[in-house]
Formats: sequence, C-alpha cells, structure tokens
Amino acid sequence: MLEFAIVGAGFSGIAMARALDKGGESDWCVFDKAQEVGGTWRENHYPGAACDVPSHLYSLSNAPNPSWSRLFPRQPEIQAHLRRIAEPLIKSGRVQFGEELSRARWVESEQHWLLEFASGTQRRSRSLILALGGLHVPAAPSIDGLETFAGPAFHSAQWRHDVDLRGKRVAVIGTGASAVQIVPEIAQQATRVNVFQRTPAWIIPRNDFAIRPWLRLAFARWSWLRKSFRGAIFLLLEATSTALTHRRSGFWGRALARWHLRRQVSDPQLRKRLTPNYPIGCKRVLVSSSYYPALQLPQVSLIDQPIAAMTAAGPKLADGRVVPADVLVYGTGFKPLDLLSSLQISGREDRQLAQDWAQRPQAYLGMSPHGYPNLHVLLGPNSALGHNSVLYMVESQVAHIVALHKERRRRAVNSVEATERAQHGYLRRVDAGFAASTWNGGCKSWYLNDEGVNVALWTGTCLSYRRLTRTVQIENYRFV
Ligand code: NAP
Repeated sequence: MLEFAIVGAGFSGIAMARALDKGGESDWCVFDKAQEVGGTWRENHYPGAACDVPSHLYSLSNAPNPSWSRLFPRQPEIQAHLRRIAEPLIKSGRVQFGEELSRARWVESEQHWLLEFASGTQRRSRSLILALGGLHVPAAPSIDGLETFAGPAFHSAQWRHDVDLRGKRVAVIGTGASAVQIVPEIAQQATRVNVFQRTPAWIIPRNDFAIRPWLRLAFARWSWLRKSFRGAIFLLLEATSTALTHRRSGFWGRALARWHLRRQVSDPQLRKRLTPNYPIGCKRVLVSSSYYPALQLPQVSLIDQPIAAMTAAGPKLADGRVVPADVLVYGTGFKPLDLLSSLQISGREDRQLAQDWAQRPQAYLGMSPHGYPNLHVLLGPNSALGHNSVLYMVESQVAHIVALHKERRRRAVNSVEATERAQHGYLRRVDAGFAASTWNGGCKSWYLNDEGVNVALWTGTCLSYRRLTRTVQIENYRFV
C-alpha cells in the first residue's frame, strides 16, 4: 500500500511529489493519464500559448530557472522546464504514465483509499492527493447546430496542428485569455480571421522582452538577484489584489487599460466596441500587446453580433447573415472543477463528492473536503487566483499537507479530515471577501457558477492565504 497517491503530473502534482521526496518520504507515486508530465502546459499548445505571469515568478520557489529566455514564458519553454524538474522523480520510477483515475473509494475499515484506474489497475493508498488542475475540461460554446459545421472545429486546448490554416477562413469564437494569444498568431497564416466577441475584456500591455544572456548569467550566479527580481514581481502583482478586492479602487487599472486601448486603436468606433462595461478585474484581466494590432489587420475582423446558430458554412448571425468559415476555433474556456465532479469519489459513509459538490464545490482551505478523510485537492474550490501566480498557492497547500500528515503520524493515527465547521468558516471568509470585490461586479466569468456564486477564487491576498495555511490548526481537523 502507498502512503500518498498523487493524481496528475502537472505543476501541482510535481510540486507535491518533490515536497514529499525532499521530506524523506519514499512511499508515494504520481499517476497521470498521459505519457508525459506537464498538465495544462502539455495540453495547451495552441499557437502563441504563453503564460500571463512572468517566468521568474511562475516557477516553484525550490526549483528556480535562472535561464528563462523571456519575461513571459512561452508554452514550449515551460513544458521543457517541467520535464527537467520532473526528471529525477521519473527516474526514481515513481511516476506512472497512462493511468487515468476513474474511481476512488475510502475504505473506512482499512483506513485507506482504493483507487481504480481506467486501465483496470487497482492501488491502495493511505492518502489521495488530486492535482488535476481546475481548468481541465474544455467548454464548447452552446450554439444551436454546432455539430452541423462542415469543416474542422476544435477547442484551444485540443489544437489540431494537422489542420493547415494557410489559405483558410477561420472563425475564432471567444475573446478570453487563450483567444487573444491565438488571434495574432493565426492572423499570419489564415487568409481571413473573424473574431466573434460576446463580451469585451479589459486588456493591459504585456511589455514582454527577451532576457539578455548576461542577465541570465547574473541570475545564475547571484541567486539574491534572481530572488529579488522574483520578489519584486510578486509584490507588484500582490498590490493589484487591492484593486480587485475593493471594488472602488480599480481606477489605476482602468486608466492603464484605457490608455492601452487608446494608444493601440485609433478608430473610436472600434475602441467603443472593445470597451468593457463592467469593472476591471471582474473577469480575468488580459495581458496582451499584440491582440489589438492584430484585430486591425486587413484580414481580421471583429464581429460582436451574437451567433444565433451554426450552419455547415459558418456562424449565422442574428440578422440572418452567415459568416463563411473553413475552420472553427473555440476559445471558449473551460468548465472549472468539472473533472473532479465527474470522477467517482466516495468518502466516509459512502458520500459522493459529485453529489456533495453539486450545489457548490467546497473544501476547507480549498483543499480538504469534509467527509473525505486523507483526501486533498490541490487548487481546489476557492483557492485559485485572479491576480498572481497560482504556484504560490500550490506551494502553500503542499507545505500544509506535508505538515498535516506529519502531525497525523505524530499522533499515530491513520486518518485526518477537516471538520464541517472549519469548512463553513473558510467559505464564510471567502464569501465575505467576494461580496466587496470587483469579481462581484455583475459580469459572468469562469470564477462563478450559474447562480453567480464564486466557486473558484480565493478572495484575499496570496500572503493572507499563506498565513492561513502556514500552521495546522488542530481544532479544524479530526484525527482518527
Ligand atoms: P475564458 O477566459 O473563459 O474565455 C472564454 C471566452 O469565450 C469568453 O470571451 C466568452 O465570452 C467566450 N464565449 C463562450 N461561449 C461563447 C459563445 N457561445 N459565443 C461567443 N463567445 C463565447 O477562457 P480562456 O481564454 O480559455 O481562459 C480561461 C482561463 O485559463 C483564463 O482566465 C486563465 O486563468 C487561464 N489561461 C491563462 C493563460 C495565460 O496565462 N496566458 C492563457 C490561457 C488561459 P463571455 O466573456 O461573454 O462569456
């Protein structure tokens, strides 16, 4: 029997395994459905895929990379970095690929989890750590007749590199974080790109730059310099959380985004169509300096009339006009936490996570659901961010889980579970932060469920989450 089973070999699964390894723990195993590490960075390889968080912050604090080539890392470089840091774990033989978890059941009499994989493999583990990533299940647009489209149609996270866009008319549906990276890239290949916008986004400049070799050498030589750079980025992003958590303080962000729009788009009509009518930060703020220029290329058009239906020839607008397309690209985002709800996870007294989470996914500290002993979800409900590096949250969670199980062992017991009271307390705190925040500003976003309840975000600063998770508050757990 394993002591820790980690499901998912993306950034969070790797961070967890590294922490266990570093703590001298050898009885762990990582399972991943694919044949490679990387998670979201393995799956999102669309043209232009890159991270919106600067590279030196978007790395684990104990696995730095002084050689990042740019301020904002691109997908191939992040994926290569992940492969590199996971290599010792893979070499140790404790990462198993091609294993997709389909079912997990807590066996109360034995005090362990029984895991069943799609391959038929069964494993037993004292603890189960789900590192599946919140944004995993692609959301196709809900448009009548979508399946009638005659050409290739695919989601940004399922990019079809076999579809040659040269000489083609491409319809891009959606204008979120993925689409604004895709449009400038494919505009260089396709003969026509029609971008279907439902809601404009607030966009701030990207100011990306290549990190010169001398600076990379300096980062490698003087770790204090790299750490200071990382720290400065962190504090800058952390400061933006004030603008998000206090609805009235978005002035500077709005001024920056408006200035960026004015500077890059000279046509006042187009500017108006690209100006959001909700508070900045309500939806995720996008970071791009190439999207607005791409929209103004002669072969690119912004279409902000709603799509009434899909036809074989392309999207049909409300006025009956069909916009001809050879290829459809869905930049329509994800169903957050959907994967977790679709897995069969049975906890104590046969409770089902899918049922418990049907109204609202919930877990103490966003990682330990009450009723599910020794189960932890990395970046679970209400522990994602809208303003800083999620890896900071992952590292807070990983350290907490390690400390929690140390305490469990010190007490010589087999299981630990968050109390219901602690879980409610956490949600109350998250909801209080949300009420006054810009996320509650009347827009729709993946942060919210259909009832407008925030199911995704932690509503404080990263530092306040670190404070909350730094010590194990014994009264919030039940040790058995
Ligand atoms: P997203 O931000 O959820 O955007 C989805 C887009 O699709 C929105 O513009 C949405 O419009 C539109 N849409 C959905 N259904 C539609 C329909 N029927 N007709 C027209 N438009 C429709 O998704 P995403 O861009 O994939 O990004 C999701 C998250 O992934 C980001 O917020 C971020 O956390 C992460 N991400 C990060 C990066 C990065 O670091 N660079 C890159 C990609 C993704 P509405 O706004 O009207 O709903």
